[in-house]
Amino acid sequence: MPKQQRDEIFSLIEQEKQRQIEMIGLIPSENAVSPEVSEVLSSCLSNKYSEGYSNKRYYEGNQIIDKIEQLAGERVKKLFGVPYVNVQPYSGSPANLAIYFALMQPGDTLLGLKLANGGHLTHGHPKVTGSGTFYNSVQYGVKDDARIDFDEVRELAKKHRPKVIVAGNTAYPFELDFKKFREIADEVGAWLVADISHVTGLVVAGEHLSPMPYAHVVMSTTHKTFRGPRGAMIMVTHEGMARDEKLGRKIDAAIIPGLQGGPHNATTAAIAIAAAEAMRPEFTEYAKRVTANAQALAEGLLSRGVKLVGGGTETHLMVIDLTSIGAGLGTQVAFALDVAGIYANRNTVPAETGSPFFPSGIRIGTPLVTTRGMGPEEMDKIAAWIARVIEHTTTEQLPKGKQERNAFLKTFRARAQKDKVLLSIREEVKDMATKFPLFKW
Ligand SMILES: *Cc1c(COP(=O)(O)O)cnc(C)c1O
Repeated sequence: MPKQQRDEIFSLIEQEKQRQIEMIGLIPSENAVSPEVSEVLSSCLSNKYSEGYSNKRYYEGNQIIDKIEQLAGERVKKLFGVPYVNVQPYSGSPANLAIYFALMQPGDTLLGLKLANGGHLTHGHPKVTGSGTFYNSVQYGVKDDARIDFDEVRELAKKHRPKVIVAGNTAYPFELDFKKFREIADEVGAWLVADISHVTGLVVAGEHLSPMPYAHVVMSTTHKTFRGPRGAMIMVTHEGMARDEKLGRKIDAAIIPGLQGGPHNATTAAIAIAAAEAMRPEFTEYAKRVTANAQALAEGLLSRGVKLVGGGTETHLMVIDLTSIGAGLGTQVAFALDVAGIYANRNTVPAETGSPFFPSGIRIGTPLVTTRGMGPEEMDKIAAWIARVIEHTTTEQLPKGKQERNAFLKTFRARAQKDKVLLSIREEVKDMATKFPLFKW
């Protein structure tokens, strides 16, 4: 097709690609996929409807799709050593809902980590979410040292007798102790669901404790450290099967007819590719470099006086704590970093003194920069840039009062976009970032 007739979307995609190459992405839930995963995602597989499961489809013409889905399942089961998996969830959020649908009745009690302490919306965040509305949600938190308060988990579990306890998080820098969660789940007869979306790649490589010997059900998105397509998988462990041999079938039924229609077959095939990639020794090396880079980034920040929640990290992510500079500065620092060519996200800190829209933290992680091939030397440069941006943009405190804050943010943004210091850092960032491809083994 002649270039001028192509939809403007194609030029926007080109611009987005350029943005990803020229900037440094530190959002810990993001990554870049291999050319093979990318190729499979844009294949003819998305033309096909295939509601149901292999050899039990509601549509004809699924002879090949059956084989693809079986391969994906077999590879995931082998990789994680689990007896059962469902690779059809559209993404992590519907996957969690499917697990709850399989294990609970509406109104039953769900125990999960507070959003503000690093939990996920789907772990029972009250009022505004499905999981917090359909179920009686009880939430545990972290202690002053930013680690899970297991005394509180046990106390709440004994008091509220949850049907399901969720162990998982999105902004927690430490390794999760699934064994302790299982002990508590056993004390009250609850199902233990591990949501390892963020750390799957680390679990594969032995860089993070595996939940498989402890949890009954394990959910993971496939697009974070696992480095596959946007999607999710629900695994039932040997522990889960030992407690209920029908658990796998219950999960299947919760996906379809429970919550979903036709599976996204291109995604299923791409999960099969990602699982094969994760079996390669290079993937283990990748995951090790992710945590080594996180250590280097944390050290680079700490040595420049930047504070981190919990004082550091044991995983791929960390949360910068701006509280000592001023409450609620996360929004302006995240914006300024973006102007300077580094994108991250604002985040609450455990003892938040700002607000959800004006939190005091910035969440950063190393999965994507590691996929690009960056190492400790680059992490130190990134830490230096972040420290400079923080120092440069936090000279003014956030005003009190909602209107004053919003007005301040508006003028702050207008100024930051033209700020000479930020724009000169952006050039330095671009110089370095463009030396690295988006995906490197
Ligand atoms: C990312 C994430 C999810 C949700 O996944 P989506 O694909 O964004 O719906 C659920 N739980 C945890 C712990 C996550 O990190």
